[in-house]
Amino acid sequence: MPRPSLRSRSFRRIKKKVPGGASVIHYLKRRPSQAKCAICGGLLHGVASERGDRMKKMAKSKKVPSRMFGGNLCPSCTKNMLKKKVREKDA
Ligand SMILES: [Zn+2]
Repeated sequence: MPRPSLRSRSFRRIKKKVPGGASVIHYLKRRPSQAKCAICGGLLHGVASERGDRMKKMAKSKKVPSRMFGGNLCPSCTKNMLKKKVREKDA
């Protein structure tokens, strides 16, 4: 039985095999929730959601799409936003 603080499900459980052959459970903090579009609230693809240290080690190109509003708006909302801005400018 793990110690009381690890009995809650606030930690995720990873099953590992140790060199001696035994199976052990590693308790890790859960990952943050997936990034969402600021307009429609849809899930954003290509946006990493890891905890601080792993996020720091990752290349920027792995964290957000390299386009306008990448990591903030979904592709269709970006398209609509750009269309809107161009039309505003013309009028
Ligand atoms: Zn959207």
